[in-house]
This record gives sequence, C-alpha cells and structure tokens, in this order.
Amino acid sequence: DEGLQKTKTSFFDQLSKAVVGKATVDEAVLDDLETLLVHADVGIDTTVKVIDRIEKRVARDKYVNTSELDRILREEIVDLLQDNRTSGSSAILDRPDSPGQPFVIMVVGVNGVGKTTTIGKLAHRFHSAGKKVVLGAADTFRAAAVDQLIIWGQRVGVPVISHGMNTDPASVAYDAIKQGVDLGADVVIIDTAGRLHNKVNLMNELNKIKRVMQKVIPDAPHEVLLVLDGSTGQNAFLQAKEFTKATEVSALAITKLDGTAKGGVVIGISDQLQVPVRYIGVGEKMTDLQLFDRRTFVNSLFR
Ligand code: GDP
Repeated sequence: DEGLQKTKTSFFDQLSKAVVGKATVDEAVLDDLETLLVHADVGIDTTVKVIDRIEKRVARDKYVNTSELDRILREEIVDLLQDNRTSGSSAILDRPDSPGQPFVIMVVGVNGVGKTTTIGKLAHRFHSAGKKVVLGAADTFRAAAVDQLIIWGQRVGVPVISHGMNTDPASVAYDAIKQGVDLGADVVIIDTAGRLHNKVNLMNELNKIKRVMQKVIPDAPHEVLLVLDGSTGQNAFLQAKEFTKATEVSALAITKLDGTAKGGVVIGISDQLQVPVRYIGVGEKMTDLQLFDRRTFVNSLFR
C-alpha cells in the first residue's frame, strides 16, 4: 500500500527494535511499546488501554513470545476500531437506486484539513460507480471554498449548487437537496464552514443547516462526516472533540495519511470518540481516497 508507506515503515522498524534480543514480552518491552504507540500519536488514553489489554493477555498466557506481540497488538487494535463495511455512506454503492431519495452527507471540519478535496474525491467515488451526485457549496464564508468546490464539480462532472460567497449556507443546503431530489440524485454532499474559534456560532449554523435540510428530507443528514488532518496528530484529536460537542458527528474522514508517520491518530480518535472512520485520504488526486477497513489499516501499520 503505497499511500501509507511512511506510517508503515516507521511503525514496523520501531516495533522490531523494541523486541530485539528479547524472547518474551516483559515489562521493558511493554514500556517500549507504550512509547512507540504514543509517538505514533495513538493518544495516551488509548495507548494505556491497549497496553492494559496486552498485559492481561501476558498475565493469562504466562509466556508470550515477542514474535507473537505483533499479532496480539494487531488483534487488540482491530478490536478497538469499529467495523465500517456496511454502515453510513460506506454502503451507498450497495444501495439500490431510489430516485427522489438521495443520501445526504453533511461535511464538517476546519479550513485547510482537506475538506473540499475530500468532497471532490467522494463525488468521484460515487459518480464513477454510476451514482448521481449533487454538491452544495454551503461553506459560503470563504470565496476560495466555493470556487474550489465548483472546480471539483467540473473535474468530476457533477453539478454544484452555489449562491456565491457570503450567502446564507442554510439556503444553499436547501437548494442543493431540493435539486438532488428533483434530479433524482443518489447522493447530495453539502460542504459547510468550520469556524472553531466561535463555537456557539458554529453550533447554531450547523443546526440551522440541518433544520432547513429536514424541510426537504425529514431524516437528513444521513451522515455528518468530520474531516480531520491526520498529519496534525493531537491537534486533529482536539478538533474532533470540539466538533463532536458542537454537532452529532457520525463518521470521520482522516486526510493526509500519505505524508505522516503518525497514522496512529486514527486509532486514538476513533476509540476515544466512538465514531467510525469511514475514509482515509492518501494523496491529492481524485482517486487518493480509501474506504477505511480496520484490518487492512492495522495490517498496513504493522506489516
Ligand atoms: P479545505 O480548506 O479543508 O477545504 O482544504 P483543501 O481541500 O483545500 O486542502 C488543503 C490542501 O491539502 C490542498 O493542497 C490539498 O491538495 C491537500 N490535501 C487534501 N487531502 C490530502 C491528502 O489526503 N493527502 C495530501 N498529501 N494532501 C491532501
């Protein structure tokens, strides 16, 4: 897996070094493992949880060979992550076409994390599988966000509903969903502004967008996808905490995992927030988005 090369190499190298010359998993090995997980940005709480679980297994099985450590570690981490195959927008490609009933994804996240790029990649993912997609440019706070989304729409070949900059985001969302219904779209993806420095505003704005969406489709949005920049490690973690306080986040997209050795952040965030990771971004191209699979991901960390 080319995209995660950096994450993989570093984790594997360090794990191997931690057990060099040791036959069994002892206190020192667990200490090294703990340091390694923290350095990989798994986060302290989740790291402690993983180490506790491994300690229990070592205590139970009395003798755990260091060559088994890597397998045990994978099993415990896979177990912490949530299964993503059949839920939320992961299942859109398996949905039968149901004209007039689009699946609505509301995308949230702060500027610069790769929100617009992720929406473009998602549009490509669904469009290239034969699904009809409509995008809504409701991040009306930044001219660049609206322009970029329009460019992505042209690149992928899907319509973008936009009223321009500084217009009412809820009204854009309403029109995009209305268009989605009228055009018989399968998926409507709504971009939103993420201004974290004003939490009350953010909360009010996201709630207003939701309420207005529900005038067209009562159970929309079907997914609130939070986009986080995986290369920012613990900062991504803090953003995730703030957003989950402001609105109900149902899934995560974690970007820029191609450029970081800190892929462990995916594990910590998903575990601590109990929100499944749906997608990971592994580059800037349209095709650089992967559906998250916990086994594949963990194997690519430790292979
Ligand atoms: P936004 O402000 O959150 O909408 O962020 P953009 O979508 O404009 O992305 C910001 C920058 O990150 C751009 O240069 C993107 O090409 C880049 N980017 C987005 N996702 C990824 C990714 O998965 N990997 C890499 N390497 N770059 C990414």
